[in-house]
This record gives sequence, C-alpha cells and structure tokens, in this order.
Amino acid sequence: MRVSREVLDAIAAHARRENPRECCGLLIGDDVRITEAVPTPNVAADPARRYEIAPADFLEQIRRCRATAADGGPAVAVIGAYHSHPRTAPEPSPTDRQEAFENFLFLIGGPVAGGDPWAIRAYRLVGGNLQPVLLVPEAQEGDR
Ligand SMILES: [Zn+2]
Repeated sequence: MRVSREVLDAIAAHARRENPRECCGLLIGDDVRITEAVPTPNVAADPARRYEIAPADFLEQIRRCRATAADGGPAVAVIGAYHSHPRTAPEPSPTDRQEAFENFLFLIGGPVAGGDPWAIRAYRLVGGNLQPVLLVPEAQEGDR
C-alpha cells in the first residue's frame, strides 16, 4: 500500500495534538494508495484508551468521495481508518482485533510519548486475524 509522506505527517501531527487521548480519522484512497487522512473527533467514552468514529463522519466522507468522483475527480473511497496509541507500540490491541472488519485498512501510530520511536503500521483483517500490510511511503501527489 503506497502512502504519501504528507498523509503520514498529518497522522503524526494529529496524534501529538490529541495526546494523551487517542486520535482517529478516516483514510481516503484507492486499491493501491492512501491519498488523504481526514481527522475525525474521537467519540469514545474513554478516549484515552479507545477510539470511535461517529457514523455521521463516516457517511460524510463517503458522500464527499462520491461527489469528487461525480465531478470527474479521482475515483477514491473511504478505504480505512487510523488511530494512535499514545503510550504503546502500534500493534493491534485485543479491542482493535475484536472491532476490525474485512476489506478495510487499519492504520495504527504509536507511541506518542515514551522510549520507543513513533511508527505507523497498517493491518487488514484476513481470516479473522489482523495481518500486517506493507506501507510504502512515497512523494506527494504533485511530485508523481
Ligand atoms: Zn488501538
């Protein structure tokens, strides 16, 4: 999965802004590339330990993607979601595994603070398990 450095930087900045709460957002793109990370409010009851994206935010982005395509823009869709782990490594938690579903990309960034360096990793639910997906950072859209 290719991803622009702009997207990775935006997720890292969002995670720092929300720390010590988990940040979250939606990923826009196509089968091969993440083109945009859209920050959404974390509506979980305990945002320091969980994340939840409001259905209204999800629907708004789906509509926006369809409108973009209808206007002759790129054929993009909501292909995944991202969230941060403020204090732990970007490995799926038991909750992340439980709440994952197929045909969706799950990006996790972490830790925001602590000894380990910040990293962003991607996963997909395959056969009931979240499997790592290789992320390939690339130059920004205008440089292609
Ligand atoms: Zn998590």
